[in-house]
Amino acid sequence: MRVDLRSDTLTQPTAGMKQAMWEAPLGDDVFGEDPTVRALEETLAERFGMEAGLFCPSGTMTNQIAIRLHAGFQKEVICHQDSHIYLYEGGGIMANSHSSVRLLPGAFGKITAEQVEAVINPDDVHAPETSLVAVENTMNKGGGAVYTLAEVEPIRALCADRGLVFHLDGARLFNALVVSGESEKAWGATFDTISICLSKGLGCPVGSVLLGDGATIHRARRVRKVFGGGMRQAGMLAAAGLYALEHHVERLAEDHARAQAIGKLFQAYPGVEAVLPVATNIVIVRLAERKPEDFLGQLAAHGVYGVKFGAQQVRFVTHLDIRDAHVEQLARVLKQLAEEEQDVRES
Ligand SMILES: *Cc1c(COP(=O)(O)O)cnc(C)c1O
Repeated sequence: MRVDLRSDTLTQPTAGMKQAMWEAPLGDDVFGEDPTVRALEETLAERFGMEAGLFCPSGTMTNQIAIRLHAGFQKEVICHQDSHIYLYEGGGIMANSHSSVRLLPGAFGKITAEQVEAVINPDDVHAPETSLVAVENTMNKGGGAVYTLAEVEPIRALCADRGLVFHLDGARLFNALVVSGESEKAWGATFDTISICLSKGLGCPVGSVLLGDGATIHRARRVRKVFGGGMRQAGMLAAAGLYALEHHVERLAEDHARAQAIGKLFQAYPGVEAVLPVATNIVIVRLAERKPEDFLGQLAAHGVYGVKFGAQQVRFVTHLDIRDAHVEQLARVLKQLAEEEQDVRES
């Protein structure tokens, strides 16, 4: 049995999701005529109490559109040094928006209002103009850590006070909300723009949605076009999103429970130095001596897959296609590996 924990993007659409895609009413969305895309945009905007939404092919595009709108030439974005927008979007802050970036450290990939306040540039020709603050929830590189409203509201207040825009990379926002129990509307009220991925834990084949006020999303539509993201009968994809919002949000708690179980299995494995606290569906394992490549190679030889996540770390992610049987298989594989190593040590 293959246990593929490399990413929550690996999911196959379920039969119900495919049926919904098959049956979706369609139109040309660049003409604004796809009823299913509109329904998805309106449904998400309504849930978060925001005015409008924009369906895009990827979370990179929704984030990069927000950055293009809110930052740009001679401006500066403040974010954590491990942010997806900085590390994993191909240098897009520079390439798409010609913007400068100010990186902050912080445990579990999180930043505070005090840190942000300390790096807001003065109105001085020497410095780029600080214009945007971005946070990520859950925080991928922080081991799927969850921000609470109590943590982001002071940053919101600071942004309002200093005339800065506040963007949320909410690729896995539903994972965070399922854990914290906080309301979608409260999160919508805290940010100027929110990017939400449908192709991670929600299990869709494609798609992300950018939420914001009507004027912002109107401008975002222009940027999406120039980024090449205007799609035609995209309702087939949006239908998957609508289906997932109905059927795949509450069940994220199952992914979190399995991630907890997987964390415990690795914790007990001799070659592991530590497992980062498991908050959602991401398990980051710090290895004692061996290289990530070697450990991943050993696991892969037994049909278990993860990814390298830093010099001494590997990452495993639970998702819609990981069931209890996969966790049980992982337990067997780790037991077998531990026994083999024990034999080698004793021989
Ligand atoms: C996956 C992800 C994105 C968007 O990635 P795409 O692959 O472009 O959809 C953005 N932010 C975070 C934190 C992510 O994990």
